[in-house]
Amino acid sequence: MKPDIFCQIVAGDIPTEWLYDDKEVLAFADINPQAPVHILIIPKKHFATLNDLGEIDKGLLGHMMLVAQRLATEHGIASGGYRLIINCGAHGGQVVPHLHLHLLGGRELAGDMC
Ligand code: 5GP
Repeated sequence: MKPDIFCQIVAGDIPTEWLYDDKEVLAFADINPQAPVHILIIPKKHFATLNDLGEIDKGLLGHMMLVAQRLATEHGIASGGYRLIINCGAHGGQVVPHLHLHLLGGRELAGDMC
């Protein structure tokens, strides 16, 4: 089976500018930004959806949130506020089958559904 697009980015097969990189996660700008700052934080390990994580993965999830917080500060949106989204499955609007956390900010998002 062909690796999903984010696994290909992790493998370096799709040239992408990384905004954050460590042994567990990678972050890069969304190709179709919905806000002035729109960054995706992904685990390097493949999980298709949030449903595939268990108790053992709670450290990874917390780490993804703290990386988002750090990126929000680095991109100047921490004090103004921002939104974190994980879409899960078809009804959740998930398109790429590799767990990812959206970090959105830089404009008023209060009226947006996502
Ligand atoms: P989802 O709807 O699955 O939660 O979000 C997937 C996101 O991945 C979308 O916002 C889409 O724009 C982004 N995306 C899809 N393919 C690529 C890609 O090849 N590179 C980057 N940087 N973002 C992508």
